[in-house]
Amino acid sequence: MNDLDPNPVPSSEGMDRREFLRIGTRLAALWGLGQGMVPSMARGVEWLANGRAPVLWLEGGNCSGCSVSLLNSYPLLPLSLLTKHISLQFHQTISTATGQLAQDVVNTTIQRGGYILVVEGAVPVAIPTACTFGGEPFKDHLLRCAGPAVAVVAVGACASFGGIPAAGANPTGAVDAITFLQDNGISKPFIRIPGCPPHPDWMIGTLVHVIKFGVPPLDSYLRPTKFFGARIHDQCQYRNMPYATKFGDVGCMLGLGCKGPTTRGDCVARGYNGGNYSCLHSLGPCIGCTGPDFGKQQMYNWPPIL
Ligand code: SF4
Ligand code: SF4
Repeated sequence: MNDLDPNPVPSSEGMDRREFLRIGTRLAALWGLGQGMVPSMARGVEWLANGRAPVLWLEGGNCSGCSVSLLNSYPLLPLSLLTKHISLQFHQTISTATGQLAQDVVNTTIQRGGYILVVEGAVPVAIPTACTFGGEPFKDHLLRCAGPAVAVVAVGACASFGGIPAAGANPTGAVDAITFLQDNGISKPFIRIPGCPPHPDWMIGTLVHVIKFGVPPLDSYLRPTKFFGARIHDQCQYRNMPYATKFGDVGCMLGLGCKGPTTRGDCVARGYNGGNYSCLHSLGPCIGCTGPDFGKQQMYNWPPIL
């Protein structure tokens, strides 16, 4: 899938064209693309903003942390673009529409089709009354929304691999969104952007790439290799330091249960909160939030095991 909208002439719809070019420059750098790709990236953002590339965002069993992370995408995207301009046809946390109006927006979007479906949260298969939309069980709602979508993007650990909702006894019967759709016969371009929460660059960067260039290269778990190719351990500043023996010690936290050697993502090098911090910067061991076992294995060791 390439170029969701075939119209080559973008319309700025009230946003400053220089702002789109500034964002396009950042996005091109994000993907390691040259200057020649800046106009394409800028146009992709513009299409997100003016509705030519609509996005339908659903929330199942989750804490909305991925949405909060999305809103922290500055400086890649300014907050005003996300909240005032970006054409999220419907987003359960951000949208102001409620009740019948919200249902009408979603139903109209489904009828028109051609949107990117973003799913945040796991599918509570065993509790149909959880996460309903207009009285419709979430699993039915998800299936109805996935049918006309051009691609499905699972954001966060819960939508990608089940995450915390699927941990332990899993009383809600939580299943990750992509496995659920595949098991129910839906075949689409699927992408997983795991993380608890995912970095905002991963979400915005992937959406714009899908719009302008199609699905990016993915690994065997359907994660974009650009963002999930590197091991956490290989970015870590504590690699050659003595082992930490208690939480708060500055040193390698392997004995405290750090999952850095088996977890992939560029979160430590990229940094959250404007590029400044990561779990490791905050002296927290990596708990493997981008991997398929997150929530299924012990997060920390105490006392330390070395
Ligand atoms: S703290 Fe974790 S990521 Fe860093 S060197 Fe130790 S095991 Fe590797
Ligand atoms: S360091 Fe580990 S736990 Fe922290 S965000 Fe990255 S993958 Fe997730």
